[in-house]
Amino acid sequence: MTEPKPFWHKPLSEMTEQEWESLCDGCGKCCLNKLIDDDTEEVFFTNVACKLLNHKSCQCNKYPTRFKYVPDCHKVSVENLEELYWFPPSCAYRRLHEGRGLPSWHPLLTGSQSAMHAAGMSIRNKVLDETDVGTDSHILVGCIATWPAADLD
Ligand code: SF4
Ligand code: SF4
Repeated sequence: MTEPKPFWHKPLSEMTEQEWESLCDGCGKCCLNKLIDDDTEEVFFTNVACKLLNHKSCQCNKYPTRFKYVPDCHKVSVENLEELYWFPPSCAYRRLHEGRGLPSWHPLLTGSQSAMHAAGMSIRNKVLDETDVGTDSHILVGCIATWPAADLD
């Protein structure tokens, strides 16, 4: 008798709310300021984090009420998968949507976030606070980071 496949093998549209939420690896990279080239729509990540992001836990300090403080915060859902193009290539939602599966360091496969942090795939202790740096595009241009784009398997 064959073992049933883990839930992350089924289509995103068929996941329960709990399954969907557990796909998030907690890397924090979607909470970084980004620049998008108007002509090419290429996305550039910066090392400047949202003012509500905890740089150690990589979690939002006010997740349940975050829209009150950051109205343009996005919640990825099965209804807006087209927005995933501006999420980091390592994002579990984006990877599954693109048929790439979960990376070997993903917490669902390893049981904790340790491997993710060790692989350098989270923002932990790598970022600056937008409150200190500012968010004007001419400032952010000087803060473009390449590390979040790395997509190790
Ligand atoms: S980039 Fe994706 S996996 Fe990482 S914290 Fe954001 S939603 Fe979760
Ligand atoms: S409000 Fe919270 S979830 Fe939204 S970008 Fe900022 S830190 Fe991330």
